[in-house]
Amino acid sequence: MLRLTDIALPLDHTPADLDAAVVQRLAIAPADLERVTVFRRGNDARRKNAIKLVYALDVAVKDEAEVLARFTGDQHVRPTPDISYKFPVRAPAGWEGPRPVVIGAGPCGLLAALILAQMGLKPIIIERGKAVRERTKDTWGLWRRSELNPESNVQFGEGGAGTFSDGKLYSRIKDPRHLGRKVLTEFVKAGAPEDILTEAHPHIGTFRLVTMVMSMRETIEQLGGEYRFSTRVEDFEIAEEDGERRLKGLHLSTGEYLAAEHVIMAVGHSARDTFEVLHGRGVQIEAKPFAIGVRIEHPQSWVDKARYGACAGNPILGAAAYAISHKAKNGRTVYSFCMCPGGRVVAATSEEGRVVTNGMSQYSRAEFNANSGLVVDISPERDFPGDPLAGIELQRRLEELAYVAGGSNYKAPGQKVGDFMAGRASTELGEVNPSYQPGVHLTDLRECLPDYVVEAIREALPVFGRQVPGYDHPDVIMTGVETRSSSPVRIGRGKDCQSLNTRGLYPAGEGAGYAGGILSAAVDGIRVAEALALELVGPELVG
Ligand code: FAD
Repeated sequence: MLRLTDIALPLDHTPADLDAAVVQRLAIAPADLERVTVFRRGNDARRKNAIKLVYALDVAVKDEAEVLARFTGDQHVRPTPDISYKFPVRAPAGWEGPRPVVIGAGPCGLLAALILAQMGLKPIIIERGKAVRERTKDTWGLWRRSELNPESNVQFGEGGAGTFSDGKLYSRIKDPRHLGRKVLTEFVKAGAPEDILTEAHPHIGTFRLVTMVMSMRETIEQLGGEYRFSTRVEDFEIAEEDGERRLKGLHLSTGEYLAAEHVIMAVGHSARDTFEVLHGRGVQIEAKPFAIGVRIEHPQSWVDKARYGACAGNPILGAAAYAISHKAKNGRTVYSFCMCPGGRVVAATSEEGRVVTNGMSQYSRAEFNANSGLVVDISPERDFPGDPLAGIELQRRLEELAYVAGGSNYKAPGQKVGDFMAGRASTELGEVNPSYQPGVHLTDLRECLPDYVVEAIREALPVFGRQVPGYDHPDVIMTGVETRSSSPVRIGRGKDCQSLNTRGLYPAGEGAGYAGGILSAAVDGIRVAEALALELVGPELVG
C-alpha cells in the first residue's frame, strides 16, 4: 500500500475526482489503480473563496515497486507505514499476581485501565465521582438548578473532565509510536463516529462521549477489570524500605484500606484535595505554569464568514474554528484555548462558592454561538512563587471573586467587549446572547481578574479582531473566570513513569502535568500503563 499526501481538491469534488487525481499524480493508467482509502482529510482555507480539501490517501496499485522507484525522494509518495498498536508485554493467562490500581476514570485512567485489562492485568479503577449516567444528572443540576455536587460534576465522575465537552481529539504531542491512533481506534470500537479516524481535526461532542465511556467500561469489566465509583482516594500509605519510599496502599473514602503497590494516579487538574494530601506525604510535586482568563462568545456565523468567506455554511467544512495568539507588551502571551464551534459555555466548578467557565458542544456543532477560552499565560516564578500549591490558591481566589461578581448564586460574571475596552461595567446585552447556564450577571470583569490579565487581553482583542473580523465587536460577550486551563502542578516522574521519590506511584495525565486535552491524556495513560506492566510482569514476557 502507498501513502499519498497533499492531494488537494475543490470542496465539491466527487469520489471519481479523487481517483482521477491519484492516477494523475502517480502517472499510472486508470486500470492500474486498485483501491483508494482516505487516511486523513483536512482543509486549506488560506484562500477563503477557493478552499480546498487536502487528503492523505492509502492507495493500492498494480505495481507498487515500480511506482515507488519512480518517486524515490518524493516525501508525498511513500510506503504506508505500519501504525498498528503492539503490546510491549502481556501477562500470562490467568494472571494471579498483584492487581494494578488506577485512580481516576478520565481519558488517562480509562485508556490506562483498558491497556492493562487488554494485557491481562485486571485493574481496579477507583473513581470519586459517579458512573457517567448518574453523573450527567448531577452536572445538569448545576446548570439548570444551581445545585453543585462537589463529588459529581463537570470535573469529577466517569469519563473525567472532557465528558461534557466539545470532544476535540487532536493534539500536538510527539507521538512516534502512533499511540493516538490506538486511542482513536478504541474510541471507534466503543461507538465514536468513524470519521474521527480520518478527519484532521476530529471531535466527538458530549452525547457520544457518554455512551462511548460506558461501552469502554463494559470492555474493561469483561476483561476482568473492576470499577469502584463514588470512592475517593483520601490518603496514600507510604513506607521506607531499603532506603526507598514505596507506596503500600490507599485509604478510601469508604473507610476501606486497599493494599496496592502499583498505582496509576490519573486524577486530573481539579483534584486539589488529592494534591494537598500528596504534598503532605512528601511526594515530589512542584508548581507549573498555566493560563487564566475568560470565555468569549461570538455568533458562529461570524466565525464561519471570517474563516471561510463565501464558502461559509458548506456542510463539508462544518462550523469554523480559530486558534490565535498575541504577545502583549507586558510580556504575557494571550491565546485562544479550547475553542468550541457551535457550542455553549458551561459552568465547570467542582468546588462550592466558586465559578469557573469552560465550553462544550455536540457532535453537530449546531448551536448558535462559538466560544473559546481567551487566556493569558502565568508562571510560578512571576505570579505565584514559593509554595508548590500556590497556583491552586490563586485559582481558588479568582474563582471566589468570580462567584461574588456573578451574584453569589453560580451565575457567571459577564461583560461586553466594548465595555471591557472602555473600562465600564456592562448593564445590558447587545447583539450577542451568552449561553452560560445557570445564567450571566452583567458586571465589570476587572472584579475577578488580575490587572496584568486585563491589560494583556485589552491589547490582544483588537489584534484578534484584525485576524478574525468581528472578534472584538463591542457586543461580543465574555464570561469568567477561566482558571482550569491546565494543571497548576507537576508531579515529577522518572523514565520508568514512577514518582521521582515514591516507587509504585505512577503520576499520569493532565493533573500530574503530562497532558493537556483528551487525546494527550489518553496517550499518556497508555504510556504509563505500559511502564507499569513492564515493571509488574517483566520484559521477558513480551508477547
Ligand atoms: P480528568 O479527565 O480530569 O480525570 C480525572 C478523574 O479522576 C476524574 O474523573 C476525577 O473524578 C477522578 N479523581 C480525582 N481525584 C480523585 C481521587 N482522589 N480519588 C478517585 N478519583 C479521583 N480537552 C480536549 O482535548 N478537547 C476538548 O474538547 C475539551 N473540552 C473540555 C471541556 C470541558 C468542559 C472541560 C472541563 C475540559 C475539556 N477538555 C478538553 C480538557 C480535557 O477534558 C482534559 O484534558 C482531560 O479530561 C484530562 O484527562 P485526565 O484523565 O488526565 O483527567
